[in-house]
Parts: sequence; structure tokens; C-alpha cells
Amino acid sequence: MAVGTVYLVGAGPGDPGLITVKGLNLLKRADVILYDRLIPMALLDETRPDATKIDVGKLPQKYRFAQGEINNLLVEHAQKGQMVVRLKGGDPFVFGRGGEEALACEAAGIPFEVVPGVSSAIAVPAYAGIPVTHRQVASAFTVFTGHEDPTKSESSIDYAALAAASRLGTLVLLMGVSHLPQILQKLIAAGVDQNTPAICIEWGTTPQQRIVEGTVATLADNALKEGLQPPALTVVGKVVELRSMGLNWFG
Ligand code: SAH
Repeated sequence: MAVGTVYLVGAGPGDPGLITVKGLNLLKRADVILYDRLIPMALLDETRPDATKIDVGKLPQKYRFAQGEINNLLVEHAQKGQMVVRLKGGDPFVFGRGGEEALACEAAGIPFEVVPGVSSAIAVPAYAGIPVTHRQVASAFTVFTGHEDPTKSESSIDYAALAAASRLGTLVLLMGVSHLPQILQKLIAAGVDQNTPAICIEWGTTPQQRIVEGTVATLADNALKEGLQPPALTVVGKVVELRSMGLNWFG
């Protein structure tokens, strides 16, 4: 029996309309769908009624499926000749472990394809009225994670490099809600101006989108007061001001 193909498909950041045409067409045909916690759940209505849908979503701290188990499920279903869609929030290769899953397929001799998605790193700021680059304001943007491998003894985040990047443009922090006070403090210590505008966006691109505003110095306190919860991302830089200059179009 011929093996099936595994498609690593980006589901987009939350608004179900932000999946790609290619991704949606594959989703409609799939025999098996393994999906994450952060995908737009409305997309599951697009699957075949007889498709197998497996929720492999991982809650912070409360692991349901280990990465190795997910890799095995992808391989096992494809080995049975099934067409497998691995549906992941945003883009599969932006903090999505898509690379690990593709390597697992490669090691098992399973053909795979990658369907990039609209990453929250760009789309969530956009729905909040913030372009990640803007002429004469930001000529680069840097996406980094605030959630490191918990087995690491020392932080591998190079704050001096981030401070340098912030002089060039915008910083976008993913997965940083619980470590936000420390991260912003370390940015200030590394030389980022504490008056730099900063913003948190929770459930961006969805009807539940919520915004907490501030500066690098005040944002962590504000986020705590507002009870900010994941999924949320943080944008640091002068581009944040464009939101109040007329770009706040959503909602
Ligand atoms: N592959 C995904 C990112 C996975 S990491 C992508 O390309 O978008 C998960 C992190 O993404 C969350 O902790 C949060 O920081 C961010 N995120 C994802 N969806 C979001 C949303 N709708 N609103 C705000 N942040 C979001």
C-alpha cells in the first residue's frame, strides 16, 4: 500500500478567513487532521464528516501529547496510506515545531509538504492597527520567544542584541505573558528606552481581541492589572503609535 502524505498546514492566527486557499483545499480533503489549541476551531467545520480529527493541543504546563507522540501519530497514519493534515496556529515554521515534525516524517520515509500560514507575529499587530515596519519609523522587525525550554538553566535570550535590533525597528514577543515583567526589565537594562511604546494583544484577529497599552516601563504592570492571558503577543517600538494615529481599523 502506498504511504500517505503529511501536510503541515498553517491555519492562520485566529480569524478563520486567514487560512490560505491551498491550506483550506487540503483540509477539505484530508482523511486525518491533527490540530492545535490555537487554530480557529471554525475551520474544523470544513473537514469531511468521516475524517478523523485529533486534538493534540498542548495547554501551558498541562501536557496532553508529547511532541514525540505527535510525530508518531503523523507517521503512523501516513503509513496506513491516509492523507494527513497537521493543522497548526499561524505559520507551521514560526515557533510551531513544524521543523521537528517534518524531520520526523523525513526520518520515517513519509512524504511531506509545508503550507505556510499567516503568522500571528505579523497579523495580530496588523489587526491592532500596527504595521511591523513603517518608512522612517522601523526598517526591520525581530520576532523572539519569551518561553524558553524549561530545562535550560540559563536564559539564552541575548538582550544586548535585542536592544540593538530595537534601534533598527520593531520587537515582537511571542509566548511571553508569564515572563513579561522580567523580559521588559532586561530590555531596559540592555539599553532600550523605557518610554518606548509597547502593547499587548490578546486573542488578536478574533472577536475576543483585547489590548493593553503602555511603555516598556509600564506595560507589565498594566497587563497584570488587566489580567492578560495567553494567547497574547507584545509589540515594542515606535510603530505602536500608528494605532492611535488612525490605523486602528478592527472592531
Ligand atoms: N506558529 C504560530 C506561533 C506559535 S507560538 C504563529 O505563526 O502565529 C504561540 C504564540 O503565538 C502565543 O503564545 C502568542 O504569543 C502568539 N499568538 C498566536 N495566536 C495569537 C493570537 N490570536 N493573538 C495573540 N497572540 C497570538
